Amino acid sequence: MSFSTRRVRHDTRFRRATVKSAENLTPRMVRILLHSDDLEGFTSLGFDDHVRLFFPQPGTILPIPQPGERGLIWPDPQPSNRDYTPRRFNADLLELTIDFVIHETGIASDWAASAKPGDVIGVGGPRGSFILEGAPDWQLLMGDETALPAIGRRVEELAAGTKATAVIEVEDEREEQHFETRAELQTIWLHRNKSQSLSTYLEQVELPGGEGFVFFAAEAGMVAAARERFARLGLPSDSLKAANYWRKGTADAHEH
Ligand SMILES: Cc1cc2nc3c(=O)[nH]c(=O)nc-3n(C[C@H](O)[C@H](O)[C@H](O)COP(=O)(O)OP(=O)(O)OC[C@H]3O[C@@H](n4cnc5c(N)ncnc54)[C@H](O)[C@@H]3O)c2cc1C
Repeated sequence: MSFSTRRVRHDTRFRRATVKSAENLTPRMVRILLHSDDLEGFTSLGFDDHVRLFFPQPGTILPIPQPGERGLIWPDPQPSNRDYTPRRFNADLLELTIDFVIHETGIASDWAASAKPGDVIGVGGPRGSFILEGAPDWQLLMGDETALPAIGRRVEELAAGTKATAVIEVEDEREEQHFETRAELQTIWLHRNKSQSLSTYLEQVELPGGEGFVFFAAEAGMVAAARERFARLGLPSDSLKAANYWRKGTADAHEH
């Protein structure tokens, strides 16, 4: 195979970080820049790594967990927490960038929509990284807006000459983002307001020849459809990294 994958574990760490700035990248995507001296030693090796963000109850101070044998021990009640992608980390400035999709309502989305400099949040992890080594003949990166941070990170790190296609479903053209890349990247934006969707794209997608790699992250039902479609197309299961990033009608499918 022209590429291989492996997982790296990291020590679990909890950090408190402070919002340095918050800006709308697009109408439904807020970019939050977090700063903390605690971010010394922060490691994120994989483009689809995630951190667990802990949100203080409105009007309260975020408690500090104690390390336990099986991870962090929180005072009761444990603060609500959600998974987010480290979009960028600047080790010199100890600044971590997280991009939040703003949707109808949710603890994380509501927090991000009103975040202001000085607000404090907890950051756990990343506990592990998925590493893709070698050079697949082609790469297909698909997802909805929650996958944009991971896809953006991936295309920015690709080597010159790499063939990659990104297919991203967003609400409308105002939600499109521009990525810097050295790769030969084709970006296809699907607009929900024009009835374009990942599911209709999946029905007609064909895979190029050679050994390729597919990343797919979106709503859980869409991910199930993608797994089925790529299996039917004969993509080996270890050439697909598919992840449920959220579940319709369920507040944080991953809360722990
Ligand atoms: C590994 C991983 C990485 C992720 N990275 C990012 C990231 O970088 N940026 C990002 O924005 N999200 C990311 N997500 C998705 C994010 O964790 C979920 O969308 C999360 O549920 C949002 O929490 P919330 O408190 O806003 O909403 P919740 O309280 O969890 O949900 C409230 C309601 O909103 C719905 N909902 C949740 N998310 C969405 C959405 N995106 N669009 C429409 N409805 C929604 C739920 O179905 C539920 O009905 C990631 C998820 C995973 C697993």
